[in-house]
Amino acid sequence: MADKYKIVCNCGCEGSAKFYEKDSPYSAWGIWDFKNIDCKSDRVQKAGYMTILEAINDAEPICSGCGMKLNEQHFIQINK
Ligand SMILES: [Zn+2]
Repeated sequence: MADKYKIVCNCGCEGSAKFYEKDSPYSAWGIWDFKNIDCKSDRVQKAGYMTILEAINDAEPICSGCGMKLNEQHFIQINK
């Protein structure tokens, strides 16, 4: 099951963040992909599991519309 978040800025801009795991023969990686959001990196990853808070800290998401720094308050989990 993938974790998916909708990101909604105060200005109305929306983006998304999605978690998935990648297994290699030696280790598992937790990966977050950001879409429609300005980030230092659109993809952040960590060995093992990566929480959404760690992903926000690493990616430093910024609204592409108004330039506001986005934090976990702008993230809405979508259960799928
Ligand atoms: Zn905005």
